[in-house]
Amino acid sequence: MNVTQEELEALVAECGPYTVQGQVATYIPELAKVDGGLLGIAVCNSDGTFVSAGDAETLFTVQSVSKIITLAFVLETFGEDYVFSRVGMEPTGDAFNSIAKLEETVPTKPLNPMINAGALAVTSMLPGDGAEDKFDRLRGFIADLLDIEVEMVRFDPEVARSEYETTDLNRALLYFMRHHGVIEGDVEEIIDVYTKQCAILTNCRGLAMMGKILSQSGKTPAGRQVISRRNARIIRAIMTTCGMYDASGEFAVQVGLPGKSGVSGAIVACGRSDYDMGEIGIGVFGPALDMKGNSIAGTKMLELLVQRHP
Ligand code: GLU
Repeated sequence: MNVTQEELEALVAECGPYTVQGQVATYIPELAKVDGGLLGIAVCNSDGTFVSAGDAETLFTVQSVSKIITLAFVLETFGEDYVFSRVGMEPTGDAFNSIAKLEETVPTKPLNPMINAGALAVTSMLPGDGAEDKFDRLRGFIADLLDIEVEMVRFDPEVARSEYETTDLNRALLYFMRHHGVIEGDVEEIIDVYTKQCAILTNCRGLAMMGKILSQSGKTPAGRQVISRRNARIIRAIMTTCGMYDASGEFAVQVGLPGKSGVSGAIVACGRSDYDMGEIGIGVFGPALDMKGNSIAGTKMLELLVQRHP
């Protein structure tokens, strides 16, 4: 299936007005400076062609979309048995940064890799020696996926620092998990890597490419297998059940595609589902968020896009 440029332009025009109903994230001070009126979308089609509309070239930080990339990296590096011995695969229905289930689950283990506790546990597993080496290896993994030079995988140091200086809740999750033996290592080092991974810069096209690789069972548009079929399937499944915060159930009903959102307003979606949109990848950016932390106009664009391809 191929989506056309005209379709995407119509979606941006139709959904633009929804941006005023949302709010940009402010809990990371740097993110509060972003213009909430921005809206863009890019699609990597079944035939590998890219189409885009709106603010599709604007750079933004990936935030929680990084959670699927670190998950892919540790799954590829250590295998699913190891990874899922330390983090579960069940949705929570709680807010992304909640500590509640960690205390209730006995023996304690973060319920899935998309909530912050689980994502931090995944970051703690990244291979490497020290924060710099771990982050460099992650950049190398991303460069390999996208078939670009590692120097092109950049992060926004201001956003990373802004989060590093304010992220007491994530520190609390890590200390709690270390106390219970769920993670090992230095909390500040994990926070350093985590805040940088969240601050990695991309645009809608980069997100669409990530979605395309996952929807094409781990293969790039050029046919290179960069993530195993099994791991791509695991990630799509976890995106479906846990990718859109505590609105994952609603998103599954309304959109029905595996998706992962971030508080920057980013959404990656994969065209493999009951809607059978073919092996396409979709990248959305709309920083005005709804109450659950998902891009309000971006989610609307995805809803309309699938309705138009029944
Ligand atoms: N850096 C963010 C945090 O951990 C990511 C949150 C998100 O995008 O959901 O708070």
